Amino acid sequence: MISSSGVTQTIESLFGPASELITVSDFIESASTILAEISPPDGDDDDVDMVIAHECSVSDIKDELEQILNDPLLAASLVQDHEQEVGVLYTSYGKNKKPGRKPPSPDTETLPSDVLRMRRELEEVQLKSWKLSTESVMFVRPPRNSDYNSLVKIRPMAIGASVGGGPEGVLTISIYNKVPWGPSYVSRLFQHAYLASQSLQDVYSTLPCIFAASPSSGGSNPAHMEPGCAICVENVLYCDSQEYSKEILEHIAGAKRATLKPSTSRRTLAETKLSSLSLRLHFPYPVHHAGNCQHFIVVEQVRLCHHSDPVSGYPIALQLTPPLPSLCYMCHKVPATWSVVGDVRLGESPSLVCGPCWDALGNPIEGVVVTPIPT
Ligand SMILES: [Zn+2]
Ligand SMILES: [Zn+2]
Repeated sequence: MISSSGVTQTIESLFGPASELITVSDFIESASTILAEISPPDGDDDDVDMVIAHECSVSDIKDELEQILNDPLLAASLVQDHEQEVGVLYTSYGKNKKPGRKPPSPDTETLPSDVLRMRRELEEVQLKSWKLSTESVMFVRPPRNSDYNSLVKIRPMAIGASVGGGPEGVLTISIYNKVPWGPSYVSRLFQHAYLASQSLQDVYSTLPCIFAASPSSGGSNPAHMEPGCAICVENVLYCDSQEYSKEILEHIAGAKRATLKPSTSRRTLAETKLSSLSLRLHFPYPVHHAGNCQHFIVVEQVRLCHHSDPVSGYPIALQLTPPLPSLCYMCHKVPATWSVVGDVRLGESPSLVCGPCWDALGNPIEGVVVTPIPT
């Protein structure tokens, strides 16, 4: 499906390398079998938890790291070395590499003995992934808005699905939207945890798009769009109706650069449980609806349901990207702080402007309504 290495690189830098194909039901079955094997016969989950906690314990690394971070000299040296390493990678292999601009390397002779000892110890780490390779430059970036979370705690649905009696899986799925300033760029908007027994329709119902609302789902339909949705997972098209799947296939067949030739599933979105899918982690699967409105879903994690997980309220919202503040309509440089209604000087009503621009306009005209924008 994806042939160009450039496209693969772009996808990997946005979502990470895709996993092997995973059949969700097989994974749940094999994982629960393994768990049953390591569980004690009396079924005491606490013992299993302790075994896993011991196995995954990083207390030795934590103690050492705390010692380093508590020492300002060592901590500063660690940060400086890391920035140095990233700087070298960027200047040598980054997209915007600038020949001739090499970051200065610190003079090792003047370094205190403690720092030199720490460096020697770090250099002896055998872990292959410890050192940054040239490929890692693709994944080194400053934080994005979509890395932040507006939710202070997880948000279960008021009327959500509950964990059943048998072995249950949990899938973490992110929804990505296209961004207006880059046609081939997407940004994470929302992340939810779903039960494997939930369906693709449940995934679609959490899509934060005004075109997703339809009269048939009981919601309002502000854009007056025809209902209909198609999700393509591993070249299989799942639609909410046969008519819509026909429309999508006709559209794909008529496209100039048709790279996809999906087969159509007989099951509708509501009939397709997540557990019945075979999918890859960290791979974008397109969601089409409302004409040309397109989003992507990315499965970030598949795991067994743990007894510390909530038992109800699925899908549970885990992450919500904070909305970016609108820029001032006048200077297009800083976030707007005032909403101005009915001012002919601005040519648009309402118009969003920043404080300095609004002050520069002088006294407001009579009848103009000015409201501060909540931050
Ligand atoms: Zn949409
Ligand atoms: Zn301004």
